[in-house]
Amino acid sequence: MKRFKWPAIILLLISIIYSAVVFIVPEKFDKTLNKTKSLPPYKVSDEALALYSSLEFVADLHCDALLWSRDLTVKNSIGHVDFPRMQEANMALQAFTIVTKSPKGQNFSKTSGDAFDNVTLLNFLQARPVSNWFSLMERAIYQSQKLHQLAIDFDDEFIIVKNKDDLKKLIALKKQDNRVIGGFLGIEGGHCLEGKIENLDRLYQEGVRMFAPTHFFDTKLGGSAHGISKGGLTKFGSDVIIRMDELGMIIDLAHASPTLIDDVLKQTQSPLLISHTGVKGTLDNNRNLSDAHIIQIAKNQGLIGVGFFDGAVTKPLTKGIVEAMKHIKSIAGVECIALGSDYDGSATVPFDVTGLPLLVEELLNQGFEEAEIRAIMGENVKQFMLKNLR
Ligand SMILES: [Zn+2]
Repeated sequence: MKRFKWPAIILLLISIIYSAVVFIVPEKFDKTLNKTKSLPPYKVSDEALALYSSLEFVADLHCDALLWSRDLTVKNSIGHVDFPRMQEANMALQAFTIVTKSPKGQNFSKTSGDAFDNVTLLNFLQARPVSNWFSLMERAIYQSQKLHQLAIDFDDEFIIVKNKDDLKKLIALKKQDNRVIGGFLGIEGGHCLEGKIENLDRLYQEGVRMFAPTHFFDTKLGGSAHGISKGGLTKFGSDVIIRMDELGMIIDLAHASPTLIDDVLKQTQSPLLISHTGVKGTLDNNRNLSDAHIIQIAKNQGLIGVGFFDGAVTKPLTKGIVEAMKHIKSIAGVECIALGSDYDGSATVPFDVTGLPLLVEELLNQGFEEAEIRAIMGENVKQFMLKNLR
């Protein structure tokens, strides 16, 4: 009898330690990785606040909030986005982008997909389903379903936008009650397809409407801007783009190598979207878009979401965001400019979502006109989605 006791005690100890780790560590990571330069409440000029409050449609093209354990239906004091803070910020639409792999030591210049994956560790520490630990596709499905569950938990105040009618419903309901908010699902990196094109259909069925072929490393679809090869679209990548066009999914080329962007521009007539980026015109690194690509994407009626983080834009960040926007405006016009915060994307940003009026203040400071500010803050995204969702 005595022999059986020890394994039981050890098992009990392990489960107590694991529970404590699950309770403490993921929140620590969330807090440390998703920082803001300044904390709310934010002080904004009366003029900027009045203009901000009058905006009918505020939208952002990128946030990784689904990666973390924090409950997005309650107001949190850590991280950048949750539903109550979106309501406070008078947001209309937020892209919820799904990260499934993040190699240790990832960097803008040369990242290998073979390094230890931090998202695997995070899934283990968060006690997410064991199926998630071993499958990138399962992680993507889990996060898609998580947003659907959160929408249910938040009653009728959160709408998941999957088609044009959902968006029209969101616009109409928001006019009656500005607490109504919406979101749509995107994928950051085609590695989650695990090499199978049928997984793209599976993601579409789960509600995903935006998809980026690459994240920090080269995938079976093509080269990342930060990968080893810096290559273009592969045969598999090309097949995925064809299928995305058939399904009506939005192509996101954030983190794509310049060659990959060229290849996709050659292959499809669909307007392209860059969900979160900077521009070489204000910060020349291989994270950021060249003038030639900005012009081509704008000509093709695409959208460029300007990131809020160091590496995409220069410091101080709020000024840097608007300088990047000013550069895009000068070479390609205002119609392609959008917000691409990268909230909760393991980046330090100048303010959380409730600080967006500060961006309006800086846009005014740098000479943007009211109609341009409305366009940048969300109207451009609204028009793009109305045109491109089925
Ligand atoms: Zn990213």
